[in-house]
Amino acid sequence: MAKNPAPRWLFAEDKDGNRQFILHTKTPGFYAEITDESQLSGFEYALKNGQTLSEFVWFDNPPAGKDLELLLEVADDALEQYDSELELPIHTCLRCSREWIPRAPDRPKVCPGCHSPYWDKPRRR
Ligand SMILES: [Zn+2]
Repeated sequence: MAKNPAPRWLFAEDKDGNRQFILHTKTPGFYAEITDESQLSGFEYALKNGQTLSEFVWFDNPPAGKDLELLLEVADDALEQYDSELELPIHTCLRCSREWIPRAPDRPKVCPGCHSPYWDKPRRR
């Protein structure tokens, strides 16, 4: 066992960013494509966000029935968490009303509009 094993779930996309995949690094290992529309070919799983997992490739014997359902529910949760961490909140400057999307999840030091460091504190009267 490696000291710092890979996370249980990995998320990947092709080099153009057009196709997204989820990879399960534990047993039973598999990867599947995340698609916006049903592929109508083979086994699929409907995700909570409306997307579909399809084109499953199994590295181990795939589980069946309830075990498979539970595994994919965990995959669904992992994907939901991954998506929510990607979606950074829109900041609004309380001084100049400028709105912007931050590049990092940390609190910006100044507003990119008025450069105020107090952009998230209302002006005192
Ligand atoms: Zn501002």
